[in-house]
Amino acid sequence: MTALEAGGSIRRDERAGGGTIGDSGIVGSLSMTETADVVVIGGGCNGASIAFHLVARGAGRVVLLEKGALASGPTGRSTAIVRQHYSNEVTARMALESLRVFQDWEARVGGTCGFTQTGFLVGVGEGDRAALLGNVDLQRSVGIDVRVVEAEELSCLEPQLFTEDLVAAAYEREAGYCDPVLTTTSFAAGAKARGARIVQGREVTRIRIEAGRVAGVETAAGSIAAPVVVTAAGPWARRLVQAVGVSLPIEPSRHPVCVFRRPSEFDRPPMIYADFANQFYMRPETGDLCLVGSIDPGDAAHRAEPDGYDTGVDLDTITDFGARASRRFPILERGFSRGGWAGIYDVTPDWHPVIDRIEAVPGLVVVAGTSGHGFKLCPAVGALVTRLIVDERRPEALEFFRADRFATGRLIRGKYAYSIVG
Ligand SMILES: Cc1cc2nc3c(=O)[nH]c(=O)nc-3n(C[C@H](O)[C@H](O)[C@H](O)COP(=O)(O)OP(=O)(O)OC[C@H]3O[C@@H](n4cnc5c(N)ncnc54)[C@H](O)[C@@H]3O)c2cc1C
Repeated sequence: MTALEAGGSIRRDERAGGGTIGDSGIVGSLSMTETADVVVIGGGCNGASIAFHLVARGAGRVVLLEKGALASGPTGRSTAIVRQHYSNEVTARMALESLRVFQDWEARVGGTCGFTQTGFLVGVGEGDRAALLGNVDLQRSVGIDVRVVEAEELSCLEPQLFTEDLVAAAYEREAGYCDPVLTTTSFAAGAKARGARIVQGREVTRIRIEAGRVAGVETAAGSIAAPVVVTAAGPWARRLVQAVGVSLPIEPSRHPVCVFRRPSEFDRPPMIYADFANQFYMRPETGDLCLVGSIDPGDAAHRAEPDGYDTGVDLDTITDFGARASRRFPILERGFSRGGWAGIYDVTPDWHPVIDRIEAVPGLVVVAGTSGHGFKLCPAVGALVTRLIVDERRPEALEFFRADRFATGRLIRGKYAYSIVG
């Protein structure tokens, strides 16, 4: 029986009620749906994209359940950088495909995702030169607009950069960043407009298994029967699927973002910049601000509990991130701290996600472990997961992101020592 055949009629149980949060115009008033064709757990950028693509493909009754508000997890704390610099063809293609959606958002999804084109530079010293050139060749072979720039040209492209220790950089003209909350809410609004039910304030307490396969989900407000459940629950996914016997090596870790106001002399917003030597990334923000985060893979050791971690930044972190950014952009020594925040990465051993149907639990699809770079891929993820469910075949790209690759030792390897960049 396919997901599409299995739906049956939707019965409503007014007793069940259920919570709705706010009145964003997205939230369906919740008279509870007792059966659905697909339940999506999690209203981050991936869950919302999956719900959108499912209903757009006519996948039947789709219900998205979010325990808090849409984008209230890591998505809402994301710097949402959209670049295509990856060491493998599959992810590079997904990043490019997703970029085209962000660029043409109103026509393809509706509403806005807040995409702002800035350009992206990743600069390297001699040790990473070969990897950078290899990545640029790979990107160009799949149609990404990227080229290598030497140190002299770098100074013209980004006059505030200290370039003496850099030998080359990759320059992606079309890169930029989005508003991750708008991206998620407009995916959800698009899904709702096409017939999905988007329910906020409703936590899935358990995935139901009957006769060895997925039978639906349980929530405090009652259960929903469905033959297919997609777990797109970010750092909470591991626990949800563990309860049905699926073990995923995903560890939540805490990652701060510091906000600095540029001094008035730093008048032109910089491009997005990733720096291996000083292990930071920086992107411009409105109001003459810059957001600075770390790309030190060692940060994965900063384990955090997603339901109770320090969401702020302390003075030591501000000083450290400010110093890293000022070594590359010396003018920032005259900048001002504007605080910051911290979010959670759900990190896998190879810093790549699991996007797979779980063979041992028919009907269970997992999208998790997006490892701090999963925002930019969410349009492609929604489309691929929809093919996985509707066509009942694993698209070739998803062979890459199989859940069993950790057990079988087929981890995804990047070209750089710094796997956080992919
Ligand atoms: C500080 C920071 C900076 C980042 N910067 C970038 C970047 O520049 N570029 C990039 O591409 N990526 C970036 N990322 C990563 C990116 O934001 C994430 O990979 C992406 O947002 C993950 O989205 P998601 O939908 O898979 O999961 P999440 O955003 O984790 O959403 C999961 C949702 O599931 C809900 N949920 C959990 N359990 C349940 C349950 N039992 N029942 C119902 N709902 C449940 C949660 O409340 C949550 O809203 C960054 C992340 C952080 C934290």
